[in-house]
Amino acid sequence: MLSLADRWPLLAQPTMLVLYLCATVGLAAGAAGYLAMATPFRWAEFLTFLALVACGAVCIEATRRLGMPAGVSRDLLSAWWLPVALLLPPVYALLAPLPLQFLLQIRVRATVLYRRVFSAAAIGLAAGVASMVFHAFVRAPAGPALRSGGPIVLAVACAVIFTVLNTALIAAALHISDRDTRWRDVLWDRERVMLDVVELCLGVLVAIACGVSPLLLLLTLPPVVLLQRSLLHAQLKAAARTDAKTGLLNATAWQREADTEIVRARRTGETLALLIVDIDHFKRVNDTFGHLVGDQVLAGVATALRSQLRDYDVVGRFGGEEFVILLPRADIGEARRVAERLRSRVGRMAIPVDDAMITVTVSAGVAIMSVHGDDLIELLAAADLALYRAKELGRDRICLPVAPVPPPRARADNSDGGIP
Ligand code: GH3
Ligand code: MG
Ligand code: MG
Repeated sequence: MLSLADRWPLLAQPTMLVLYLCATVGLAAGAAGYLAMATPFRWAEFLTFLALVACGAVCIEATRRLGMPAGVSRDLLSAWWLPVALLLPPVYALLAPLPLQFLLQIRVRATVLYRRVFSAAAIGLAAGVASMVFHAFVRAPAGPALRSGGPIVLAVACAVIFTVLNTALIAAALHISDRDTRWRDVLWDRERVMLDVVELCLGVLVAIACGVSPLLLLLTLPPVVLLQRSLLHAQLKAAARTDAKTGLLNATAWQREADTEIVRARRTGETLALLIVDIDHFKRVNDTFGHLVGDQVLAGVATALRSQLRDYDVVGRFGGEEFVILLPRADIGEARRVAERLRSRVGRMAIPVDDAMITVTVSAGVAIMSVHGDDLIELLAAADLALYRAKELGRDRICLPVAPVPPPRARADNSDGGIP
């Protein structure tokens, strides 16, 4: 039988998060109710609202067929929220997200219901505030007003208010649910800011066009749909390169990038190292705590590895609990230092699960270009051999291959340089 938390995933969340989500949704619902009573009904406004929501719905339907895997999250729906906020009384800004989030839920991706409700509330509140600010300064009906400089500048400022508020409401929820998330990671990402600017420009342009005549929505719709489709295409391409559990490159993408780096290193004569990192006794983690916790550990190890590496190091999940790392320009000393740093960083990491703290160790095999192999296959084979030795010798350690692969004619000595 399903437990209460299974049926209501919100209840399984930390109390602070539940309180925050309920407060946001309550505030949005209260504001919508109050403003609905206080706003006189006008058919022209209601029809403009329907037209803008219909445009949003067309956008959703037009991109639906491209498919939307989990993790693909950006859309350009602000192009429709913003005109609602700027052209119509604030109550409409609070109501507009409801039909569109509902459509996303039933037509695109059925996600946990409380997230949809929270998204609708966060967008509604942000757009509602932007709308109130705009209408406090622009008393005349907004449509005609949007033909002169002053109100247009104000519209841009209100679009910024909308974006900042919406991002802050979501970032606060992320921060409460995971205190380790750094504000900067959530708020400041160049790609994200660029998309916000594009959305903002689109929203203001659509508002100006719709203010001239709602019929012009017919002209704005195709370019917005096309932009939305190309954005989705770019996100799908990124998702196809990424391992969903860890956010690292998947095996195919890693192999492609590693090959490119190896060709470059061979051409320039630079050194390069390859590491295979494998979690020790990972089966025990699964057996003791279950697969879901195992997945959390995998993600934790992946984050720890990534945090210790340079931007241009190529990190991937090779499969199971095995990670591969290519270190461009690293010689044997540097590769050993990096591998050792990764090993000790993961060893010091504790992942909180229920009442327990899980710790794991990793073993790593290291191979150096030109010493242990000349192409990706040879380097992988050599690093795998070294990893096997590390496991044999008791785990939680790093090793180089005993015999270089292929064996260099000039060297009879052991290339390990002192470590096992
Ligand atoms: P060793 O120290 O020799 O590496 O032991 P190990 O237990 O880590 O290695 P083994 O190859 O015996 O087991 C690997 C385990 O990893 C078995 C498999 O269930 C688990 N595993 C593989 N992929 C995933 C995954 O995506 N999620 C979870 N939770 N477990 C996974
Ligand atoms: Mg293992
Ligand atoms: Mg393994």
